[in-house]
Amino acid sequence: MSDQHKPEFTPEGTPPSGGKQLPPPGTPLDWVRAGVFPEDWTLIPVAGKSTYIKEWGDHKRRRIDSEGLYFEDSRYNGFGVVTGELSGGLIALDIDGPDADRRYRAEAGEGYEAYGEEQTMSWTSGKPGRRQLLYRVPEHMVPLMADINTVILREDGEWALGQGDTNRTKKEQAGEEYEELVLRFNRCQSVLPQSIHPDTGKRYRFLNYNGGQPAEAPEWVLEVIRPHLKAKAWLSEEEMGQLEAEAGKTLLPSRQIRGWFFSEEVQSKLLPRLDELVFKHPTFDQYGWDIRPGKSPQMMSGCPWHGGKSGTSFQYSELSGCWDCKACGVGGDVLDF
Ligand SMILES: [Zn+2]
Repeated sequence: MSDQHKPEFTPEGTPPSGGKQLPPPGTPLDWVRAGVFPEDWTLIPVAGKSTYIKEWGDHKRRRIDSEGLYFEDSRYNGFGVVTGELSGGLIALDIDGPDADRRYRAEAGEGYEAYGEEQTMSWTSGKPGRRQLLYRVPEHMVPLMADINTVILREDGEWALGQGDTNRTKKEQAGEEYEELVLRFNRCQSVLPQSIHPDTGKRYRFLNYNGGQPAEAPEWVLEVIRPHLKAKAWLSEEEMGQLEAEAGKTLLPSRQIRGWFFSEEVQSKLLPRLDELVFKHPTFDQYGWDIRPGKSPQMMSGCPWHGGKSGTSFQYSELSGCWDCKACGVGGDVLDF
């Protein structure tokens, strides 16, 4: 691409090898059609920050269908991406202003990415200090995150689960000034670059396009999520049907056992004794357990599959019992182990 055709919003820096370049500015629809956003993202049309699509956070959509929906209401002037499972495990870190940024810096430690120096796909509404950083969580974590809509850093320093975008609306309606620091996953949407911000009338713009791909979620984000992971205790009728069709027999008993196993009664007895009852392996004996202390302690050891030099590759949360090894790309709940 020659200099005179350089798009107005190309952020500084070289995209990763094989990465895409941004096309010239156009309407939000132009950019969607030009393939600016990853194919596996579910997009919805928005008017400001709102959409008139019913159950927009519950269904995956083909790109061509999202484009079609844009024409169904003349108020639409942009697009949003539905974060979470519907967009390949996309998670958005939403930083609401300079004060939220300070708290982000303290939480992320070495993983902090300063304004304008983001290492992942990121954009801003143009309001001072406001930005979103987009990451992808490891594939094996996505099914365990089904109940996670938002995780909000509260004023007491605790990361707590929220209901989703409805929280934000209530806050705004109440006219509160508090700058939030939020991770947004299922049933949330983020307004995309080139869309028009309802208050400023300006277009959202990329801070870093990152060659068209969000980076993998950094370790500090996974640490925030791990205590909130949840085993899938009950399978839906549809999922059971699929499993039974594959097995060629009725699997009802195992489903009931799973439900019993993940009942609060059993889990309350099991969770305090995970290291002696569940996570037993010669590798763990060899490496021993390290604990990363805090409000939601995480246990770390060598990985039974690949070992690892640091002795911290395998991690599990004492609160959820969910575990994973990032290097191997495996993880799950207590029964999966
Ligand atoms: Zn491993």
